[in-house]
Amino acid sequence: MAAVGSTPGGISPCCYQHAVTADAVFCGECGKPLLRCMAFQECGGLVGDDGCCSVCVKPQLFLDKDAVTEVKTGGVLVLPLVFYNASGVARPLFITDLWVREGDGPRRRVELPWKRLDAGGSNRVNIQTGALERQGRHGIEITFAAATNYYMREERFAFTSLLGLEVEQGGSLVINQTINTSGVGTGADTIYAPIRLETTGDAAKKAPGGKAAELALQRADAFEASSGVRGYTEGPLKGSVVGRGARIVWKGFGADGPAAGPITTQDSMLGLGRAKTVANGGENQVQLLVTDAAGAVDEQLSQAISRRHLELFIQSGRLSARVTGAAGALVGEHRHGADDALAEIGHGDVVKILPKYPEALALQVRMRAAHGFIDEITITRLPAIPEGG
Ligand SMILES: [Zn+2]
Ligand SMILES: [Zn+2]
Repeated sequence: MAAVGSTPGGISPCCYQHAVTADAVFCGECGKPLLRCMAFQECGGLVGDDGCCSVCVKPQLFLDKDAVTEVKTGGVLVLPLVFYNASGVARPLFITDLWVREGDGPRRRVELPWKRLDAGGSNRVNIQTGALERQGRHGIEITFAAATNYYMREERFAFTSLLGLEVEQGGSLVINQTINTSGVGTGADTIYAPIRLETTGDAAKKAPGGKAAELALQRADAFEASSGVRGYTEGPLKGSVVGRGARIVWKGFGADGPAAGPITTQDSMLGLGRAKTVANGGENQVQLLVTDAAGAVDEQLSQAISRRHLELFIQSGRLSARVTGAAGALVGEHRHGADDALAEIGHGDVVKILPKYPEALALQVRMRAAHGFIDEITITRLPAIPEGG
């Protein structure tokens, strides 16, 4: 259960107070790093390692009031679902995928006739079960992926709701909901909350205009990783997810290199380029200049690097880059820039800053993963600047 005084999403109020200060990177009270939502300027939201901003991302799922007709032997059941976007800021959600699973059967994808869900708006979709037996309990798992966008960036999450359908004698249907109150898959505090929909007989007639029943949603983090909603879908760390609070370690930048730590900037990204660092009166977190073997700056070649050449951030559990430099940049063999600015960076990738001079300056990326969770990313400058210089 959430600690007393904590806000939705598990972020302490003290962190919100300290995040108001633009250059604050740690909470002065509890010492936690301030991980801002990518849309922080609009929502003021902070996120945990799971990257989900509870201000921006607030889907709600309902079983509509006209749910469930009589269950006939061997018949199918239509469940009218209503998706609602409860975001307090005017941020739309995009329901990109919907899957339904019955019992231990395979998850099947349900086509959605719509994707966009404006804040305060709702959309309906009917899902159909397979043939139900007249008696007994039927487990239904409803899982959906929701995306939130901010400029070129996107975070995607998966949520799930578990229902148990029970057909009683006489045809009335009881829907139980499986709620794991501890939040993460331990199953320790599972409770079954009955949602009784009196759909047949006198009760239905006596309850005109009944209410839609809200279904409990849980983050489906294991599913996010296995289905590629979050994290890497290929490469050596396939199935692994970068934590939003992953520590970035910089190597080869010399004695004055950037400090190790998670991304705690206002816009939750790191600017890399020819301009000076913020600490030195510039605009970047990491200054990129071409140097010779002795560590002396090659002024002429460095001019080919844009003032802000690259922006690094973590989105949907992947390290990503937006290449803003005029010269572009190579990620692996692929040149990014202009119309193809967005790059996904994985373990072992090498980012070459100047495609025309690939050996001049590169960043090699390595990641440390444990049980599918990446908590440290090491970015090594090639060639390395001598430590003494
Ligand atoms: Zn705090
Ligand atoms: Zn937000």
